[in-house]
Order: sequence, then structure tokens, then C-alpha cells
Amino acid sequence: MKRARIASVVCLILLTGALVFDVCCQKASETEKPVRIGVARFSHETCTFCPSPTTIEDWEYYGPPTRDLLGSDSGYIGGFKTMCEEFGGVELVGVLSPRGARGGSSGSWITQEAFDKYSYGIADDLEAQGPFDGVFLSLHGAMAVTGIPKPEAEIVRRVRAAVGDIPIFVTLDLHANEDHEMSDAADAVFIIKRYPHYDTTLLGERAARVLIKTIRGQYKPTMATRKPGVITPSVFQGTGVSPAMEIMERARRWENQRKDAYVSVAFGFAYADVPDVGATVMVVTNDDQKLADQIADDMSDYIWRRRNEFAGKKLPNTEEGVALAIQAAKKGKTPVVIADHSDRTGGSTHILEELIEQGAANVCIATLRDERALEKIAAEFELGDTIAIDLGGYSDEFAGNPVHIEGMIEHLGKRRNETVAVLNFGANNRVILTPHLTQVTTPSIFKPLGIPIEELDIIVLKSRVHFRRGFHETGLAGAIFEVDAPGLGPADLTVLPYKNIPKDIYPVYTKE
Ligand SMILES: [Zn+2]
Repeated sequence: MKRARIASVVCLILLTGALVFDVCCQKASETEKPVRIGVARFSHETCTFCPSPTTIEDWEYYGPPTRDLLGSDSGYIGGFKTMCEEFGGVELVGVLSPRGARGGSSGSWITQEAFDKYSYGIADDLEAQGPFDGVFLSLHGAMAVTGIPKPEAEIVRRVRAAVGDIPIFVTLDLHANEDHEMSDAADAVFIIKRYPHYDTTLLGERAARVLIKTIRGQYKPTMATRKPGVITPSVFQGTGVSPAMEIMERARRWENQRKDAYVSVAFGFAYADVPDVGATVMVVTNDDQKLADQIADDMSDYIWRRRNEFAGKKLPNTEEGVALAIQAAKKGKTPVVIADHSDRTGGSTHILEELIEQGAANVCIATLRDERALEKIAAEFELGDTIAIDLGGYSDEFAGNPVHIEGMIEHLGKRRNETVAVLNFGANNRVILTPHLTQVTTPSIFKPLGIPIEELDIIVLKSRVHFRRGFHETGLAGAIFEVDAPGLGPADLTVLPYKNIPKDIYPVYTKE
């Protein structure tokens, strides 16, 4: 009895001690000044060889600019938010930012009017909602704007003019085309390392961790930037294969060896005719210029040494690729996926035409862009009707001929508020019609449209690497063929009518 009473007294003393300790700690963290960070997003991958400019109307097709950027826990901003919550004592403020542009990366040159509206809009809203201790900009890096040679660096300069000398941190896509102008303007730049882009959330977390440390005076970002002089088609940039895999592995090795060093490589976006096109190395260290330079030189030299493997591969043409796919389907490796990688506008018919020519069955084209056909179908036809119609072949100059099909309307409905139709024709072949280029990256599109994926022998996707997320890494595809049909995004970059890129870049001008 007595012993129990002593024990409870001891407990009470311990508990009181714990409470006092707790209050002390809380007081300590309360005295630390809360950090205030403005968060903005302005992101586009511009295919300058594509036919239609990207206008204000395209940018506002899905709604006007918004401050509502902080709703998700994933992606660059989601990761940034999560890490800020873990640190505590951080107030995040959403800054008025444009949404995604209609047509995504099938859009050509952004008009200067649109660029001015959103870049100055972000700067003005930062000024209106300030002051801030830091700014986080979620950019892409492959934006191309009429009259503005290096748009993302210009965004940072406009933001700098509004917010002054506080840390501005930037995250970029692996397809970014950037150079020293970006690293001169921003305090730190971080770029994702995976294609498909699995590490956007992790990168957002990294940017937040280093930005908060910088604001608190525990880190002094110091950058080195290099351009190895290499440009590669997207279809060869998947980081699951060599040499893209080894390049990123080398960056990770440096990061593991050197504390507080962040090593980024953008492979670049070859379908933007801009002066800073191609691979970029960007290294951030904690107040160590010598180390940043050393790592940047090493990475840049390494990419140059691997340039032949990186940019010089060959792919089967339309006829060869389709024949290989049909052969694989006959051997039971279904579904066979054909990546129609060069179609940048979504309405190319080369592969569809060749599949019909070679007598393929159980094929699904996912998808074919044809806004005119969809308009006609919606106005004049109903679900279940038989139909004879010409499809596609007009979205750009390389999109092939319209293909005549006679079949049945198997599905007619809305997807993301836009009309979509499925036509069934020939030997149980299907084509999904959409009004824009649609890059299908997972099989989730098929079920809502009533398409039994297990019955498909061949699936044609307008994708280069992102489809691997849902069709390769899940083990779904029995075989995959990247086919080099004529298009605005060819694997052979030497055929593109470049005007603005460096005159010594490999493999377009420098051949060896
Ligand atoms: Zn990308």
C-alpha cells in the first residue's frame, strides 16, 4: 500500500517534470520567427514545330489563374507543402498562377501577351501578398515564348524585381531547356531525375528542406551550370535504360558522397527550337563554388562521353514496326504496345493506316485526335449507329492521310467535359477519338469507355516514355515497339528545321 503511494508520488513528479519540459520546448519554438513562403506555378513544354500557338484562350480553357495551389499532397508543390509541415513554423501562401494550357505540349509558341500576363501576374500577386521570406516557383523549363529567348529565367527576373533579395528556389522538369541565365537569376534550382517522372513529390520536399535552411541561415546555395552540347529525342531519355540511367546514377553518387550537394541533370526537350536547348547540368552546394564546379564539369564530361549511345539510336519505321507488332501478337505476347512516339499533335494516321494494310485484328488506337469527326458524330449520329467516315490526318503537315473506316459507334460520351467516341471497325479494331492530343500513360482510360483491355492484341499510344508507367512497369504489355513514323517529334533530330539552337550541338550540327 505504502509502496504504491510512493510510486504514484514519483509518477506525479515525473509527470510534472515532463509538463514543465514540454511548456519550455513549446516556448522555445514559439520564439522562432515563422517563415513565410510564396508558392507559384507556371509550367509548359512547348513544341515549337507544332502548328498552333498557345494563347491566353488556351491557358484559360480550364479556368482563370488561381491561388488555389496547395490542395494536393503530391507533385512538386505537394511535396514542398509536406516538408514545410514537417519542419513546422512555415506559412505557405498560394500566388495567382495559370492552370495547364489546353493541348498541353502539342501547343506551339506561347504568345508574348500570354507570357506577360502570367509572369507579371505572379510578380504582382507576390508584391500584393508580401512580404515574404522566400519564394518557391514550380516551373517546367521547356517553355518557348515568341520574343522571349529564355522565358523561365525571365519569370525569375520578374519575380526578383517584385520581391527583392530573398531566396527564390525553382524546380524544373527533366525536359527543361535552361542555361546559366536561370541559375544567375534563381538562388537554387532542382530538377527531377526520373522519366517517367516519379520523383516530383520528392523533389518538392528537397526544395522545401533546402529553402527553409537557407532562410534560417543554415545553408548558402551556390550554383554551377554546364551545357554539355548534347540534344536527345525524348524517346531515348527513359531513365530505366542506358545511358540515361547511368547519368542519373552518377548524379546520385555525387550527392551521396558530398554532404549538402544537389546534382541535377535536365535532358532537355528537343522539339523546342530555342537557344538553350539540350542537356543541362545544375549543381547546388552549400557555399562551395569549387565543389559545384568540379561536380558540374564531371557530369557534363560524362554526358558528352556517352553522347553516341544517348542520341544516335535507330528505331523501326512504320512498316517494320507494325510488322513486328503483329508478329509478337501472333506469338501471344498480348497486348502489344506500339509507341507512336513522333506524333506531337495527336492526329497522325500512319500507324493506323499500316495496321489496316497489314490486316491487324483486335487493335485499339488510344487515342486519335479528330475534333472535326467528333463534332460531326455528336451532331448527326447516336450510340450504336453504323458510320462511314474519314479520320485524322490533318493535325499537322506530317499527320498522314485521312483514313476511311466503316464501322459502329460503340461509345459516345464525355471525358473531362469533352466529347469522346469509340468506333469499332474491321476485325474488332477500335479507335478512341478525342478532341486533343491525349497521351495515355495508364490503362485506366479503357474501362470507362467499355473497352475490354484483356481482348486487345495491339494498343497504339501517342507517348514516348510516360506510357511505361502503366504498361511496362506493371508488366501489362507483352511486348513494346517504339515506331518511328513520320511526325513532328522524330527520333532523328537532324531532319528538324531548327533555326535558333547552338550551331555546334550534337547530333544536329556536330556529328561525331
Ligand atoms: Zn517531362
